[in-house]
Amino acid sequence: MEFHIVKIKSIDHVTHDVVRIIVEKPAGYTFTSGQATEVAINKKEWKEERRPFTFTSLPSDDHLEFTIKTYPERKGVTNEMLNLKPGDELILHDVWGAISYKGEGVFIAGGAGITPFLSIFRYLNSKNELNNNLLIFANKTKADIIHEEEFNSLLGNSFINILSRETVPGYNHGMITENFLKAHVVNFNKPFYVCGPPPMMDAIQKQLANLGVADNLLVVEI
Ligand SMILES: Cc1cc2nc3c(=O)[nH]c(=O)nc-3n(C[C@H](O)[C@H](O)[C@H](O)COP(=O)(O)OP(=O)(O)OC[C@H]3O[C@@H](n4cnc5c(N)ncnc54)[C@H](O)[C@@H]3O)c2cc1C
Repeated sequence: MEFHIVKIKSIDHVTHDVVRIIVEKPAGYTFTSGQATEVAINKKEWKEERRPFTFTSLPSDDHLEFTIKTYPERKGVTNEMLNLKPGDELILHDVWGAISYKGEGVFIAGGAGITPFLSIFRYLNSKNELNNNLLIFANKTKADIIHEEEFNSLLGNSFINILSRETVPGYNHGMITENFLKAHVVNFNKPFYVCGPPPMMDAIQKQLANLGVADNLLVVEI
């Protein structure tokens, strides 16, 4: 199977536990916004530990960007990524992923599940085609919101936050429910893009089915 060894150009924090890693882009490497690849750290004891991450740069950029939530307590790959420096290397594998833009709709993300949508919104913005897409972004606390300012500036009132573990003026509080969706979504006959942790995926898919969203309008990673 094909793989590419790429050098890290920069690594920095975008929230308290999310890092942005920018790496070289191999010649001829292509993807569409929303897709992912398997990534490993090019160090002896980590080479075989592949994990999937979504590209958050534009397909036309001359570099690749990943936006990665780290889990120090798991002592896995994302924890090890906290020790990486510019000049260190990653190993990239095949490009894959089912999430892609299928027209104007409603995007529902939980935590790091925002990454394919970050990629899609950046792409739509680059083409001046943000249109009337709506983003509902669920997080535990305000400090967990990835690229809040960027989404505010891209989407304005079409960017809706909900926080489950913190009450903050101006932010919705609680979990996403059918009533919450009914209050914020006018039309359920359009694409619904959903990405988040497995329990959230199950809950939202059930809610959308109850609200009459047809299966063929659901865009999720399989
Ligand atoms: C298509 C796709 C795209 C993705 N894109 C992104 C992205 O762009 N950005 C992003 O941040 N994430 C993304 N993810 C999720 C990302 O792949 C995982 O967060 C990552 O694999 C975690 O790797 P890890 O080695 O740090 O931890 P893991 O491999 O999850 O865990 C290491 C070890 O910790 C233990 N462990 C596992 N889960 C738990 C738990 N819940 N509590 C306690 N211990 C546990 C287990 O022993 C496990 O072997 C994506 C996932 C998919 C499927």
